[in-house]
Amino acid sequence: MAQAYKTEFDTPEIKEYPLIPHIRKGAMEHSKPFVAKAQHQESLGFPGELVDNWQQVALAKMAELLGKYRSIRVFLDTCVKCGACTDKCHYYLGTADPKNMPAARQDLLRNVYRRYFTLAGKLFPKLVGAVELTEEVLQDWYRYYHQCSECRRCSVYCPFGIDTAELTMAGREILASVGVGQKYSNEIITKVQKIGNNLGLPEPALANTLENLEEEIKDDTGVDVRLPLDEKGAEVLLVTPSADFFAEPHVDGLMGYAKVFHQAGISWTLSSYASEAANFGIFIGNYDNMQKLAQRVRDAALELGVRRIIVGECGHAWRVAYSFWNTLIGPFDFLDPDYPVPQHICEFSYDLIQRNALKFDKTANDHRILTFHDSCNVARASRMGNMPGGQFVIPREIIRASCNHFHDMSPETIHEHTFCCGGGGGLLTDDLVELRVKGALPRMEALQQVVDEFGVTHMAAICAICKSQFSKVFPYYGFDMDMVISVHQLLGDALVLGETH
Ligand code: SF4
Ligand code: SF4
Repeated sequence: MAQAYKTEFDTPEIKEYPLIPHIRKGAMEHSKPFVAKAQHQESLGFPGELVDNWQQVALAKMAELLGKYRSIRVFLDTCVKCGACTDKCHYYLGTADPKNMPAARQDLLRNVYRRYFTLAGKLFPKLVGAVELTEEVLQDWYRYYHQCSECRRCSVYCPFGIDTAELTMAGREILASVGVGQKYSNEIITKVQKIGNNLGLPEPALANTLENLEEEIKDDTGVDVRLPLDEKGAEVLLVTPSADFFAEPHVDGLMGYAKVFHQAGISWTLSSYASEAANFGIFIGNYDNMQKLAQRVRDAALELGVRRIIVGECGHAWRVAYSFWNTLIGPFDFLDPDYPVPQHICEFSYDLIQRNALKFDKTANDHRILTFHDSCNVARASRMGNMPGGQFVIPREIIRASCNHFHDMSPETIHEHTFCCGGGGGLLTDDLVELRVKGALPRMEALQQVVDEFGVTHMAAICAICKSQFSKVFPYYGFDMDMVISVHQLLGDALVLGETH
């Protein structure tokens, strides 16, 4: 497959009232991410390049997945083409390519499934839309399963709850198993397995970064706030996306977590072995790789002797931790049973706020007018705290505790209806920048509305991918890249350090 990507394209126009676009067939047929090199395929247990008998291997993998996950067969058998999901995908809304309609994306797999795994498809393929698995079909899988961020928005509107994200994961796993995995995700998984984080940041560099951040906090506040690394016997192990160690605005969020731990008087540590909360194993749909990455967290927790594990601001990391850790790396009988496992950093801070253990000077954020972007993996693939909808309430309550000015975006774009930032699901790579910019359109339109109506200056988020994606795409739409901010930066800026309460 050709290794080139389009750097020039038209940024969609922000309209006052979002419109469903007219179909433009093949509008994104040119979009596909770079294919993984042999070394990054083989390091994850996949063949290095397209195998000679790829049809046979692909169908065997499909049979395996159909046997392992009943949901896949149910999703492939159930769609009645009611059309309720048609205009719900941000990639369809931003690109107008009909293959980015969720049901059409599902059909890429469904049509092949019918041909080889159903009686009707074997006997009367044309009647039921069954198709042969040809090289052209394989190319379409590669293109369009990398134009889905596995965000699950479509499933909220489907009367049967068909989850396109699961089919995308299955499609990607089949692709990797025949030798055509995605470069970006596979390289990252390899780095985590070898070094411990997505960035390939070794322990000395991480230690140095944390020392610099301690100095920065001291310069700003005059208070000695620690960011400990590999401290045995700490109460809490914090696992956070490695973007928190250096990227903007993520790093300000990390300093915010440190201030909360400091003020709460709770000992904590980061781990150089498990220095990554992100788990790209989920993006490529591969259980074994997801398990291997998660195992590092369990091993680090045992090695350090902590009693609690808290997860930093990262959407899909929280999805993996909340929804899958228990079966991937549980049981957690070595941790303190009085606390949830895992616990989200927002849950942790919210609990302290509820107990009046933190004191705020909200005027510190008075130069900011906030809105909040619900990250899809938190909104639709997990929850937070012990109340229904806690994942929507808790981050907003933290913002309200820290800021005087907050306005939500339009209801059909928040909570479980939230739009993906456009860069989730392993698509946060420059070879997909056109897709990322176009897929961000629905969120940009909702943001523009609150900018116009309330003068919003900043959009807070609790996902490392959302923060990186918005920093990149904001300028395409005329917004300042610094408009995106970590929830824990807001909290950290308003937190009064000193005597604990
Ligand atoms: S899961 Fe998200 S990105 Fe994928 S088809 Fe559904 S709405 Fe689109
Ligand atoms: S909403 Fe569900 S049943 Fe209707 S077309 Fe979409 S996937 Fe099929």
